[in-house]
Amino acid sequence: MMGGMARLALVLALSVLAPTVAACRAARAPSAPDASPATSPGMSAPRDRPYVLVLGTAQDGGLPQLGCDEPSCAAARADPARRRLVTSLLLCDPRDGRRWLFDCTPDLAEQLERARGHPSTRHVEGPRPALFDGLFLTHAHVGHYGGLIELGREVYGATRVPTWVTPRFARFLRENGPWSQLVAEERLELHELAEGEPVALAPDLAVVAFRVPHRDEFSDTVGFEIRGPRRTLVYLPDIDKWEAWDASEGAPAGARRIEALLARCDVALLDGCFFADGEIPGRSMRDIPHPFIAESIARFAPLPAAERAKVFFTHLNHTNPAADPHGAAARRVRDAGLHVLEEGLVFGL
Ligand SMILES: [Zn+2]
Ligand SMILES: [Zn+2]
Repeated sequence: MMGGMARLALVLALSVLAPTVAACRAARAPSAPDASPATSPGMSAPRDRPYVLVLGTAQDGGLPQLGCDEPSCAAARADPARRRLVTSLLLCDPRDGRRWLFDCTPDLAEQLERARGHPSTRHVEGPRPALFDGLFLTHAHVGHYGGLIELGREVYGATRVPTWVTPRFARFLRENGPWSQLVAEERLELHELAEGEPVALAPDLAVVAFRVPHRDEFSDTVGFEIRGPRRTLVYLPDIDKWEAWDASEGAPAGARRIEALLARCDVALLDGCFFADGEIPGRSMRDIPHPFIAESIARFAPLPAAERAKVFFTHLNHTNPAADPHGAAARRVRDAGLHVLEEGLVFGL
């Protein structure tokens, strides 16, 4: 847990980088002018419509990562402002105080602290109030569902948290301990996602899952489109190469799926796990395919600037040089008209 001084240092450090992010993090109960432009990330949380708060931006192992003494991890250990929690989002609806978590990470406890006061209208009472009005999980890799373990009787003892997963992921949770205990004890209430079918959270707020290729050992993998009253945000933290998606089952001939997705959304938080080939010494990166950021930069280069501006890379591995906002890799991303996602950013929907 971060101490008060460290937290202050973090806020001060961030205020140099991006004042809006720091302001958002420092404010427990967000107070924002309702007229904030809906298109700018990092604004204070809106009060009149749903928004997404970024709770984590690292690959499943976080930054710094366990046992790693490479310079990026050492720097993140020395300077809390350079830490990154595991990729996760909080969707908030300040109109009625509800909120939903996207991916339930091993950093859940710290992320819940960051989620305090979001949305400002949230009403909680009793000794163990509902932490969320629902969970949406992309897949069964540890960074994306490992935090579920905190909802069991040894820790929070949650009650019937609506949890949306694919049918295969639901079966995995039902049939394998320790997750099966969460289901049997009704800590989780499983709901099965159907690809392309909106889950309506409000008349003007819905979540739609779409299937993507990934290393599907225990579950299949989805990304989510979060459709708000004015804007749509895409969350796609884990995928094999863009070309693998284009060539996957059901794709039309000549498909350019990520471009099609960008065309129908306003913000896209995309897999930026690795910056480039050779990033992990002594390990073949063919076993762990992701679109390298360098490949995404090249692929998106022909797109109009407005399309590129929608892209924010997240799920950054601890080896990824773009995790350092002052570094050359992050500059390359910015120069290409794209962004690296930062924690504490708010996207109005
Ligand atoms: Zn992951
Ligand atoms: Zn994964």
